[in-house]
Amino acid sequence: AEVVKYLMINMGVMATVTQSVDAETAVVVAEAFGKKVVRGALPDDDGVAAAGVANMGNAIDEDPEESLLPRPPVVTIMGHVDHGKTTLLDAIRSAKVASGEAGGITQSIGAYQVTTASGQEVTFIDTPGHAAFSEMRARGANATDVVVLVVAADDGVKEQTKECIATAKLASVPIVVAINKMDKPGADPARVLNELMNYQLLSTEFGGDVEVGKVSAKNKDGLDDLLDKILLQAEVLELKANPNRAAQGVVIEAGMKQGLGTVATTLIQRGTLKIGDIFVAGASWGKVRLLMNHTGARITEAGPSTPVQVVGFDGVPGAGDVFTVVDKEETARTITDSRRKLLRENQAAQMQGDLKGNVEAILSGMLEDGAKEKMELPIVLRADGPGSAEALASSLRELVSEDEYFKVTCKVLTAGVGEVTKSDIAIAGVSNAYVVCFNVAANHQAVEDARRGDIEIGYYNVVYDVLDQVQERLDRIRSPTP
Ligand code: GDP
Repeated sequence: AEVVKYLMINMGVMATVTQSVDAETAVVVAEAFGKKVVRGALPDDDGVAAAGVANMGNAIDEDPEESLLPRPPVVTIMGHVDHGKTTLLDAIRSAKVASGEAGGITQSIGAYQVTTASGQEVTFIDTPGHAAFSEMRARGANATDVVVLVVAADDGVKEQTKECIATAKLASVPIVVAINKMDKPGADPARVLNELMNYQLLSTEFGGDVEVGKVSAKNKDGLDDLLDKILLQAEVLELKANPNRAAQGVVIEAGMKQGLGTVATTLIQRGTLKIGDIFVAGASWGKVRLLMNHTGARITEAGPSTPVQVVGFDGVPGAGDVFTVVDKEETARTITDSRRKLLRENQAAQMQGDLKGNVEAILSGMLEDGAKEKMELPIVLRADGPGSAEALASSLRELVSEDEYFKVTCKVLTAGVGEVTKSDIAIAGVSNAYVVCFNVAANHQAVEDARRGDIEIGYYNVVYDVLDQVQERLDRIRSPTP
């Protein structure tokens, strides 16, 4: 009853005791009740978890130490807009991906693998930015081993650079810095290194533990050195996986291709995927009909850290969906049936929640105070820790913009810890709220939902900025000057 009450009052979800909620919502509720959530297990309300799918998540079945073999690092490139993430990814791809295979190297499939001069492999996730990274993490798929933080040598640490640092730190993923645009006349790498120190990123040059490569993505300079630095960082992590087991991985991106149906780029995280394997990914399943590597060449199997294009899905999985090989078709069907049922229930619950929100909005609009018209700016707050969430929420509640006719204040609807999820956006949507992120990011799904629902998300690292800009918003509500 407490949970149902919390769902209704704090999250706008009209749920009953027998109903299921999505994972993000469940995590928020669990945390609100002081529980720590470990991701990984299957929804087993139909009792299907035990049979044949005990390998459903990292939390529940560990591979024995002696089965583990070294695997290549998986890298995600992050950085401020225009600092050269895409150019760097393309430069590495064109310089380093073995050509002469199927010739598809210019076509992005969401991930690729390079072989360095020393013969070692590195896998790159091809969607730059922290949104995709956070989305995967929110779904329990920690695909990235190393973050390469691109900082333009002529521009230095910027807003999104800070967000990326915060995101990587939140996920405990080590950062390798790539100081880019070294070819530009205004390049000042020393300044960049200095600025990074403010965020506890101390270069090895100065006795710290952060590897820094200086590159020009445009001229393809310094790429080998950067790859070496990535490998150095990876070495410390001692990355290993068991290749001799049923494959498990994560869907990086999926789409339809003429003649093939769904083609999903999947990053194998452990085990080896083979033609004929039966698998589940999100709410879809299938049997591997065809495997292609990142260049489009057909292959027969794919091991740990390999990005592979999988053909044979019965539907289209989502980016970030966990991909798992199961023992037989029946298991795959049972799991996907139960997941699809869950999805349908959640959509219905979401619609109910929306309705309730609308009614509340109408009601509150009718409760205007006679003397002075009172207005409220609803706020959905997300911060990096319970302390900062609470402190910010109470500071925001104190803000007021007032004149003889109007009084505008903040209404903090939720003050949560960790990245913004789609439930936050759902709440923001029905209440027309402003979403405040303090030292946290929003996951990919949330960003997408926000864009669709025209909901504003503000990212901040400094308390003063939050208060300043929210105050500005209150003033604008009170007196909307053009
Ligand atoms: P992203 O937004 O971080 O993906 O940045 P892009 O890769 O799109 O690059 C932004 C701009 O910077 C483009 O005009 C690139 O041509 C340019 N750029 C990227 N890397 C370099 C570089 O090493 N040197 C110079 N001079 N320009 C670069």
